Amino acid sequence: MTDVVVFMDLDDSIFQTRGKCRSPENLAPAALGPDGVPLSFMEPWQRLLLDLLSGGGPGLGTAVIPATARDLGSFGRVLPRFAHGAILDFGGLVLGPSGQVDRDWLGTVSGKARSAKGLLDEALGLALGEIGRRGLDARARIVSDLDLPFYLVAKTRSGDPAGLGPIRAALEERLGGEASVFLNGNNLSLLPAYLDKAPAAEYFLSRYFPDLGPGALVLGLGDGLPDRRLLSLCHYCLIPARSQLGRSLL
Ligand SMILES: [Mg+2]
Repeated sequence: MTDVVVFMDLDDSIFQTRGKCRSPENLAPAALGPDGVPLSFMEPWQRLLLDLLSGGGPGLGTAVIPATARDLGSFGRVLPRFAHGAILDFGGLVLGPSGQVDRDWLGTVSGKARSAKGLLDEALGLALGEIGRRGLDARARIVSDLDLPFYLVAKTRSGDPAGLGPIRAALEERLGGEASVFLNGNNLSLLPAYLDKAPAAEYFLSRYFPDLGPGALVLGLGDGLPDRRLLSLCHYCLIPARSQLGRSLL
């Protein structure tokens, strides 16, 4: 019996790259890079929060559901294990409790994802055009899973987000009516209008927790503007104080 469901953004919410950690002491590896070397770390207080939210209490059933921009590959390199399923690709994919891709949700989004291919190709062309024309130290790519293109991401190699400004401006000017553009630190993303963690979370609750009573508690953890709709579904939001959303509130 589940009483508490926690939708948990991962990057910059429960772990982050070493340079973003408040203290270099006592860091625990939390996610690996493609080469197998730890790339993201949890600070001790983040481990405590994860344990607190995962553990529940006597007679209390708690389910922590990652709700992340990560795709299948990068989610597979996250070290903490989650046993109740996950939301990936900003809501593009839902994984069930045994880690299997939810075929019903896939059926819901696959047509929309295919329809958004032209938009994402255009966005990639704009981003690469700005990078080339201005000689920016940045890279851009479309994040896909199961051959479905979900969103565009751009980052600078140096970690300095200043270079992303012109790319953001070009994307918003040309595609702002059909897509959402988010800049959070050194991470620029463009999401087609249909893509959001919130509808995937609503589906998740109805599909995997059909017996969740009106008295159950739903919590959300997220650091950035793309998490806002998901957080607004929850009874309470947990927002890292030093984050994009935290700074906008505090
Ligand atoms: Mg995040």
